[in-house]
Amino acid sequence: MDATNSTFTLRGGRRADRGFVAADLHVAHGRIVAAPPLGAPEVDARGCLVLPGLVLGHTHLYSALSCGMPAPPERPCDFPDILRLVWWRLDRALDLELCETSAAVGAWLAVRCGVTTLVDHHASPAAIGGSLEAVTRGVERAGLRGVLCYEITDRNGPEGAAAGLAETDHFLTALRDGRHPLIRGLVGGHAPFTLGDDTLRAVADLCDKHDVGFHVHVSEDTTDDRRARADYGRSPLTRLDDAGLLRRGTIIGHGVHLSGFERSRLAERGVFVAHNPRSNQNNHVGYAVPGTQGPNVMLGTDGIGADLFAEGQAAFYAGRAHDRDFDAARVQQMLETSRRYAAERFGEPLLGTLEPGAPADVVVLDDRSPTPVTAGNWPWQFIFTQSASAVRDVYVAGRPRLLNRVAAPDVREAELLATARDAAPRLWARLEAIPPG
Ligand SMILES: [Zn+2]
Repeated sequence: MDATNSTFTLRGGRRADRGFVAADLHVAHGRIVAAPPLGAPEVDARGCLVLPGLVLGHTHLYSALSCGMPAPPERPCDFPDILRLVWWRLDRALDLELCETSAAVGAWLAVRCGVTTLVDHHASPAAIGGSLEAVTRGVERAGLRGVLCYEITDRNGPEGAAAGLAETDHFLTALRDGRHPLIRGLVGGHAPFTLGDDTLRAVADLCDKHDVGFHVHVSEDTTDDRRARADYGRSPLTRLDDAGLLRRGTIIGHGVHLSGFERSRLAERGVFVAHNPRSNQNNHVGYAVPGTQGPNVMLGTDGIGADLFAEGQAAFYAGRAHDRDFDAARVQQMLETSRRYAAERFGEPLLGTLEPGAPADVVVLDDRSPTPVTAGNWPWQFIFTQSASAVRDVYVAGRPRLLNRVAAPDVREAELLATARDAAPRLWARLEAIPPG
């Protein structure tokens, strides 16, 4: 079967939607169908586990070339230091070519982890215009779905904010032509503590104009809350609510330090929250209790790769450390919520399921569990016996992206990895020339 074929039968896989009992899965023209398509090729999935593709609820593809970068010029003492000394130098070092390479390799490594949709939060202050087009090219090369945005912020002055707004407007307008069926857009913002009221109003106008939600970090660290109350006399979440930004499709990244009242507001407004436990641990910012953040908690990696098996396991152990009753099923709920978010953005209610009519976003795993996998024990199997290294095949809208662990030819995987390895030292050299923000 070649990479352009989106009609096939997956033979004998143990389907998650059938309680991990063996059942064929039929795909015709990119969608799951009930009956076998005539003369379609078959893929042997006997003994394998068949799941709907994973959805990564919050990431930063721009950080895909960061691993191994030079140490910051001084030791970060707190979260604002981490931003100032590390991430706000890395993102300023990106040019458009680096944005595309970073997006392509990050998106491709996500596919290798079984991700079929990712929600990205992009920043490249020295190369804003055209950056979302560059990220789109990268994501389309990997061939998965992307929900993209630019992190609008006032941290680079009024010109930087205006450029972020203009890039977003241009990108969302361009998406209307339908030439990017696997790409959707949001309005993005860095975080309330780098967004003044005028810019927030302009952000809300863009959300209205394009009828999309807002993707923003909120209360990742105590800084966001402290600065909002000092400068605006309100909490960061209240500022967003007052601006009309807690709306359909909005994603709050982190929400570690939200008050009980703010958490209840999340539920009332129906917004989504991205839980990123590894990032929160890495940045020493505290623990976001997922059980208190309303019904729409997704799982993100915040740019620490795209391995949702590892992230789900981290979420489980962090949850257990905080609450002995934290249940493995909660991790599955987060993954399901991420799928529901993708289904809403793509206007495909069945996306993220294996039901007839659903777009065929499908992952095949080798079954490495030493015990029988069942519907009842899957949440625990996911934590204790599964890993991204078991991902064998990945299909997006029926197109094979990974077959028997081999990349689809159009990915040009060897060339992509070689380009990324050449690009990374160039990025790091540019970064070293940038003083702390
Ligand atoms: Zn983030």
